[in-house]
Amino acid sequence: MRHVILIILFVLPQLSVFASGNMRKDKPNIIVILTDDQGYADVGFQGDQAKTPHLDSLAKDGIRFTNGYVTHPFCSPMRAGFMAGRYQHRFGHENNPTHLPNDSTLGLPMSEVTIADSMKAAGYHTIAVGKWHLGAHPKYHPNNRGFDDYFGFLGGGHDYFKVAKKGQKVVEYNIPIEHNNKPVPMESYLTDMLNAAAVKFINQYKGQPFFMYLAYNAPHTPYQCSPKYIKRFEHLKDPKLQIYLGMIAAVDDGVGQVRAALKANGLTENTLIIYLSDNGGQTKFNVSKNTPLRGRKGNVYEGGVRVPFVMTWPGMLEPGVYHQPVSSLDIYPTAVSLAGGEISRRLEGVDLMPYLQGKNKNAPHDYLYWRVGGGGRWAVRHGKWKLAKETQKIELFNLEEDISEKVDLAGQHPDVVRSLKEAYDLWNKKNIQPLWESPKPGKPRKPPVKSEKKS
Ligand code: CA
Repeated sequence: MRHVILIILFVLPQLSVFASGNMRKDKPNIIVILTDDQGYADVGFQGDQAKTPHLDSLAKDGIRFTNGYVTHPFCSPMRAGFMAGRYQHRFGHENNPTHLPNDSTLGLPMSEVTIADSMKAAGYHTIAVGKWHLGAHPKYHPNNRGFDDYFGFLGGGHDYFKVAKKGQKVVEYNIPIEHNNKPVPMESYLTDMLNAAAVKFINQYKGQPFFMYLAYNAPHTPYQCSPKYIKRFEHLKDPKLQIYLGMIAAVDDGVGQVRAALKANGLTENTLIIYLSDNGGQTKFNVSKNTPLRGRKGNVYEGGVRVPFVMTWPGMLEPGVYHQPVSSLDIYPTAVSLAGGEISRRLEGVDLMPYLQGKNKNAPHDYLYWRVGGGGRWAVRHGKWKLAKETQKIELFNLEEDISEKVDLAGQHPDVVRSLKEAYDLWNKKNIQPLWESPKPGKPRKPPVKSEKKS
């Protein structure tokens, strides 16, 4: 990718970084901020409708990835891949698990060592805040998957204002908000609660290295927003847009509060913040935007899998823009390397630090892969090329010249099609079939395809 330019990335001389203050050279705090269904253009720094001053400032102070990818175009499988540091297809987590607290087969397989397990082993205090969606059965609880502290809800989404009242039927979206298995009262708008919890944890654990996974369910359905945020968009005519942008504004305020808490504790330059969305915007059913990308949540087109993605570490990562493709799989090895922990050979991502600090000028990845629905739809990216089977035909796009995937070049470059298809087939050989199907509203769940090994 000769045309890809790495802009102004270099490390400041170590002396100037570490000479002052109480900054720790090793074991920086790491905060991963994940949003839900936020489109590629649903941030101020690369879109025209959302107002996100704090995310914009995070991007300005750090590295913005123009080719930042997730491993799946929807919620739970992407999280499974991130959490395990491996393509989720390797271990059958290719669909959303139905929310069934009594079913021990539905969740991130216990064979996987999570990023939290590894950070904990490296001496970090590990914290998860927000949406889990990696299994509702107790064995999959975040406290059993490496997180010392968990504040949030176990399902794939939640009502933003209420939990089930006494006597009311408990379903996925009104389960209790909890802190380490103990229900906590729902005292404010859910995003505000997650913001407050994140700040509280930073203040509580400021004295030791911590790893925080801050997984907002916003701006995922249900589209509900507190008047405080809607007010900022009163000038817009469309009430749906007011609510959607308000939900993003609440997250953005939280990012501001998190950074303010770090600053107040003198931790700004000792903390790496990674921000990304878990998949693209669901533009078919809401007012999100993936401009200029084609497709939406659920698609293997760019609109499903290329997301807003930023890494910020003042003093250690020179602000700029990075154009080479990177993946949500890279977060695990990057974090564990910084923590001085052990990097398992099973991990499939790349430690990005040498690339972002200009020590390695190559592309971090030769190939990136996607597979949805057990292989019915798939894609592979190699350099500027992307081969995608989203519809009945296999299409080839040159993403450097055609970011919107408008022109199918498969007929003109049969050799490229063949080579990328071979690469995909080779990768796919190491995958297994999905262990379960995604829930279908109104239909009973089919039994799992294959039970997970007893553990
Ligand atoms: Ca999602």
